[in-house]
Amino acid sequence: MSKILIIEDEVAIADLEKDYLELSGFEVKIENRGDKGLQTALKEQFDLIILDLMLPGMDGFEVCKRIREDRNVPILMVSAKKDDIDKIRGLGLGADDYITKPFSPSELVARVKAHMARYERLVGAGQKTNDIIEIRDLKIDKTARRVWINGEEKNFTTKEFDLLTFLAENPNHVFSKEELFAKIWNMESVGDIATVTVHIKKIREKIEYNTSKPQYIETIWGVGYRFKI
Ligand code: CA
Repeated sequence: MSKILIIEDEVAIADLEKDYLELSGFEVKIENRGDKGLQTALKEQFDLIILDLMLPGMDGFEVCKRIREDRNVPILMVSAKKDDIDKIRGLGLGADDYITKPFSPSELVARVKAHMARYERLVGAGQKTNDIIEIRDLKIDKTARRVWINGEEKNFTTKEFDLLTFLAENPNHVFSKEELFAKIWNMESVGDIATVTVHIKKIREKIEYNTSKPQYIETIWGVGYRFKI
């Protein structure tokens, strides 16, 4: 549930706003002083803040500025005077919207919803998607380091995963065992190229339907391996 903080010293107005927002499904908290409001805004996590301008303790200009230094939450500023709105804009405090008193509660709710939707779109757009490789029935999620074959998840060791991913990212390229060993195992590690053969065998057992007729990792006799696409 989205959480809203109302910083407003006029109790009747704050209560009315709270009632309407709660009816619209929001969780609401009220602070009646600017300084207390700032504290709460920085201490808890809110999805939107409705901030009155004239407040005891600390005025809305200062509260807005301080919240902005620390938080990216949308701030909807409320003022009784049109002049103040111009001042807020002029100061570049980082408020996202302004609403002048008196306003109808439904107008407030509409504004709040519009901001939430916009904010969620922005935040959502910033989310990174996982890096996925899909080749026929094989799906590799590089970010989560998970592998599926035909929709069924298979467990891979770290080196098996690295080797499979490396080959799948460089399809149709023949790599010698020496090259693969140097690439996947760090050169100082004790081991030999037979390690590569063992790992290829294990990977095939997980991803191939028939290991004697591999569909994905092909053996190029006398040379090495190739991921076929
Ligand atoms: Ca006030």
